[in-house]
Amino acid sequence: MTNKNGHVYCDSCGNYLGDLPLMLHDEHGHPTRSMVYCPLCGNVLSYDDVPVAKESDIDEWFTFCWKIYPRKSSRVSARKAFAYKLPKDYEGAHQKAQRIYRTIAKQVQIWTERDQSEEFIPYMSSWLNANFETVQKKTKRRKTK
Ligand SMILES: [Zn+2]
Repeated sequence: MTNKNGHVYCDSCGNYLGDLPLMLHDEHGHPTRSMVYCPLCGNVLSYDDVPVAKESDIDEWFTFCWKIYPRKSSRVSARKAFAYKLPKDYEGAHQKAQRIYRTIAKQVQIWTERDQSEEFIPYMSSWLNANFETVQKKTKRRKTK
């Protein structure tokens, strides 16, 4: 979340979200944990008091994805690309990690149907950087038809 003179913008797409304070309050007027969802891109924007995803969480989620990804090359860059795709807050990161997992599972199905040989399967880091969003969009489009 980017705060410019009290105006709050989405980190991911730059959408204007409103003016501060966006913090939620409990019945006693004390500020509570708050998260703001960007209606334009779905990004979860968080204040500093929102729990963040730890490296160990990211490792765990990454390992699930890595296990089902067919091309086991460049694990380190894949882990980096994976972490880069995740928002900082725990809830948002967990949801995105699950979405990446499901998308990989779909992608693997497509490759299997095509009988695609490993040399034509990109490294996971490249796939995450170039194809993850595209596969998602394609899947979404198919659903709406
Ligand atoms: Zn946004």
